[in-house]
Amino acid sequence: MPQPTLRNRTLLASGFHAPVLGEVDVLTDVLIAIGRKGEIVAVTRPADPGYAEARFAAEASGRLERLPEGSYLLPGFVDCHVHAPQYPQLGAALDVPLEVWLQKYTFPLEARYQDLAFARRAYSLLVADLIANGTTTALYFATVHQDATRILVDICLEKGQRALVGKVAMDDPETCPDYYRDASVDAALSGTRALIEYVRGHPGNPEGRVKPVVTPRFIPSCTDATLQGLGEIAGDCGCHVQTHVSESDWAHGYVLSRHGITDTESLDRFGLIGRHSMLAHANLLTVADMETLKVRQAAVAHCPLSNAFFAGAVFPLKSALEKGLHVGLGTDISGGPSASMLENCRAAVTVSRMLESGTDPGRPPHARGSGIPTRIDFRHAFHVATAGGAKALDLPVGEFSPGYQFDAIVIDTRAKGGSIRLWDEFDHGEGILQKIVFTASKANIGTVWIGGEVVSADG
Ligand SMILES: [Zn+2]
Repeated sequence: MPQPTLRNRTLLASGFHAPVLGEVDVLTDVLIAIGRKGEIVAVTRPADPGYAEARFAAEASGRLERLPEGSYLLPGFVDCHVHAPQYPQLGAALDVPLEVWLQKYTFPLEARYQDLAFARRAYSLLVADLIANGTTTALYFATVHQDATRILVDICLEKGQRALVGKVAMDDPETCPDYYRDASVDAALSGTRALIEYVRGHPGNPEGRVKPVVTPRFIPSCTDATLQGLGEIAGDCGCHVQTHVSESDWAHGYVLSRHGITDTESLDRFGLIGRHSMLAHANLLTVADMETLKVRQAAVAHCPLSNAFFAGAVFPLKSALEKGLHVGLGTDISGGPSASMLENCRAAVTVSRMLESGTDPGRPPHARGSGIPTRIDFRHAFHVATAGGAKALDLPVGEFSPGYQFDAIVIDTRAKGGSIRLWDEFDHGEGILQKIVFTASKANIGTVWIGGEVVSADG
C-alpha cells in the first residue's frame, strides 16, 4: 500500500491523462516526483535522460512508491456541478418537470438544512462518497443558509476535498417560497460576502483548497437588485461565479419574457459572466450566446444525465468544444441520478450519439437526428471530466504535469467485486482507458490523493 502522503516522494506508475482535447497520453512506468506542497515537480518517462538515475536515487533514499501491476493512475475527476443538499434525493424525484420539481421536492429538502445536525450528517456522507467515487474537485451549490454552508466548507477541509462552495442566493418572493429564500436583497448580498470572508479567512484553509463562489441560483429565483449586487461582488472579490443558464424551455423562456433578452445576455448585463464563471446546462444557447461565453472565457458545466430528465434537449458538446469554449462535466446531483463521474462520461458519449442519429424509429433515418456530426468518444469525455473541467475552473489540477497539484486516483483493474476485465491478448495502450471509462465501477477505484495526500484508501 502507498504511504499516507506522496509529498516529498516519487511515484512509479502507469496510467493515463488527457491534457489535450481528443488525445490520450499513455503513461508507462513514469516517475512522478511530488514536492512538499503536493505539487508535481517532474514527470520522467523511461526514454527521458536521467530516468534511471532518478529512479535509483528515489529507491535508494526510500522515497519511491510503486503502483502494483494491474493498477492505473488517472487524474481525479473534476465535478463542475453539484447541489450538495440534494444528495438525500439522489435517484429519486425524477418524475416531474424542473419548475414543478423545485417546488414539490427540492425547496422542501433544501429548507431542512436549517437543521445543522442534519446538514452535518448529509454533507459528511456526500463528501466521503464523492471522494470514494474519485471526485477530487467539486463545485458545490449549498443552500441559502449561512451556517449550514459553513459546515459544508468545514467538512471539505476536514476530509481534504478540493472544493468550491457557494451560499445560494435566491430572494424573489414571486418564485421562491416564504419558507426557503433570502429575506431581502441585503440578506442575499451580505450572506454572500460573509461566506466569502469565512472561506478565505478559515484557519484550516491555508492552501486555499476550498474557494468561495458567488452563487445566484438562477435568474428565475433572483430579483434584479440581487443579480446586480452579486455581479458587483464577483467583480470586487475575483471569486468564481456559478449559476444555471438556459437549461430547459421553461427556464430559457422565463428569462426571455422577464428581461426581453436571453439568459446569457441578461447574466452578462449583470456582470456575472467572466473567466471564472461556470454556467450549468446551457442547452438552449443561441449562436450569439455561445460567442458571448467564448469572448468572456466563461465555462459550461455539461450535465448529460440530468439533461435527459429535466432539459428536454442535449447540450451540443462537440460544437462547443470545437468553438473553443471551456467545458467541464457535472453530475448535477440530484437532477442527474448518479454521483459517479464515470457514469456521466458514459452518458456524455451516449447522448452525443443519440443527438446525431436521432431516436424516433417512426422517422426515416435522414430525418431522425441533428443532421450534423455531434458524436464524441471516450477521449473527449475523459478530457472534460478531468483536464477540461480543471481548465474551465482555472485550477492547476486534472493532469500530470509539472506545477500541477497531484490530485489522482488509482483504478485497480483486479479489485475484488470490480467490473472491468482486461485481456492481455486484446487490451493495450489507450484501449485500456476506453475499457476503464466504459466498465469500471466504484469497487475499481482504489487510493485517492488530493494535493499528494491520501484522502481515501480501500481496505
Ligand atoms: Zn443545478
